[in-house]
Amino acid sequence: MHLHDLTIKKFHEGLVNKEFSAHEMAQEVFDLIKAEDGKIHAYLSLNERMALRQAEEADLKIAKNEPVGFLTGALMAIKDNILIEGLPCTSASKILENYTASYDATVIKKLKSSGAVFLGKTNMDEFAMGSSTENSAFGPTKNPHDLTRVPGGSSGGSAAAVASHMAVAALGSDTGGSIRQPAAFCGVVGLKPTYGAVSRYGVTAMASSLDQIGPFTKTVEDAAILFNEIKGVDAMDSTSSPQASEIKEEDLLKPKLEDIRKLRIGIPKEYFVEGLSAEIGSAVEKAIQDIKSLKVEIKEISLPHTKYALSCYYIIMPAEVSSNLERFEGIRYGSRQSAEKLIDLYKKNREAGFGDESKRRILLGTFVLSSGYYDAYYAKAQKVRRLIAQDFDQVFKEVDLVLTPVTPTLPFKFGEKTDNPLEMYLSDAFTIPVNLAGLPAMSLPVNQTKKDKLPVGFQLIGRHFKEADILGLGQYYEKLSR
Ligand code: GLN
Repeated sequence: MHLHDLTIKKFHEGLVNKEFSAHEMAQEVFDLIKAEDGKIHAYLSLNERMALRQAEEADLKIAKNEPVGFLTGALMAIKDNILIEGLPCTSASKILENYTASYDATVIKKLKSSGAVFLGKTNMDEFAMGSSTENSAFGPTKNPHDLTRVPGGSSGGSAAAVASHMAVAALGSDTGGSIRQPAAFCGVVGLKPTYGAVSRYGVTAMASSLDQIGPFTKTVEDAAILFNEIKGVDAMDSTSSPQASEIKEEDLLKPKLEDIRKLRIGIPKEYFVEGLSAEIGSAVEKAIQDIKSLKVEIKEISLPHTKYALSCYYIIMPAEVSSNLERFEGIRYGSRQSAEKLIDLYKKNREAGFGDESKRRILLGTFVLSSGYYDAYYAKAQKVRRLIAQDFDQVFKEVDLVLTPVTPTLPFKFGEKTDNPLEMYLSDAFTIPVNLAGLPAMSLPVNQTKKDKLPVGFQLIGRHFKEADILGLGQYYEKLSR
């Protein structure tokens, strides 16, 4: 079995049928990373010793015929804003360059007890702010399909690691599209769970009312497996919900065609407007036609407040960022400059430690929260957020899922949008409304025919805690292509 063919599911089958050992596959993946990652730069740090030991433990369990789950031995990459005890966790920022995590995030604890193997930590935009990984303090990640193009962001390293087979699956985080957009650009599956479905304990906070952790995988079936392992209420995260623990494994992993056929799908006209590239438009149209062959009902719908989502996000998100990044003063975490006065020490540490985009958002956020401007910006944006959420509540009375493009354009070239932050922000126009409304959504690759094409993704958005609808339809769509 070759690494290129491995999914979580096939890896599991190969292990239990003793076709290979977890240790030998882990060794093989590290060899591949050493040969290839100089070009791609998906990883910021590797975890070879611990990973090989975790793989041996998995092999031991199998040798003793102990019961093992799908994730035993699974070779995973983790975004560098998720804490793994004893490993670096930089959020791709100089201010955290020397930071070592002192505890495990809840998702890591869960995956450890499922027997997963952590290969290393992946590159990202600094503090998850960006759409291309060009904001990483440690240099960008390249798109494995075309090294002159960006892999998307902010979880570009996780997406590229899976797309280039340097991991079987990965975790990322999504605040405005950071799982779905890089998944679309790299041709893999990316799921942003419902807000509250997965514990955020141990993820470096960007914008706490929007952040969610989720999987990157090669197949929708794998996304269902991984989501099933990481979901659930957690005492350490008061925004995690008991409803997450009620989602049934069987609905995620074994969707029934008769249930899928009952799903009604809405196509919002506001997502097929000027600015959507012709290639994306026709690829998404093809996905819609393929889904029609499953005999589901498809109809046009309207989400009238869509056009306000981007401006609303770029007020709420920086407001939360400015507050969350306050803790990085270079004293408790990160590198320290020297200064006589405490206030100068803060200033120097933050000046040296943060990149331009982080500074831009701290400034924006501090401004929109400042006295006299609060009502005009932040309070108003909260009202608009409600309207956007209500748009979805309204359409979910007549449809079960919403289908849209993920990105307005194909993966762009390095440097193409770095001089114009607003251009960069537009890459997330189709993913941001979902975070504002707290809904689950998945990006999955359109089945394309020509080999040389750049990947295109489409997005399925579901009701709160109805990941099973998204993953169910996705699994049947995926079967059409095989
Ligand atoms: N690209 C968006 C931003 O820059 C989303 C980031 C994210 O989801 N973490 O804010």
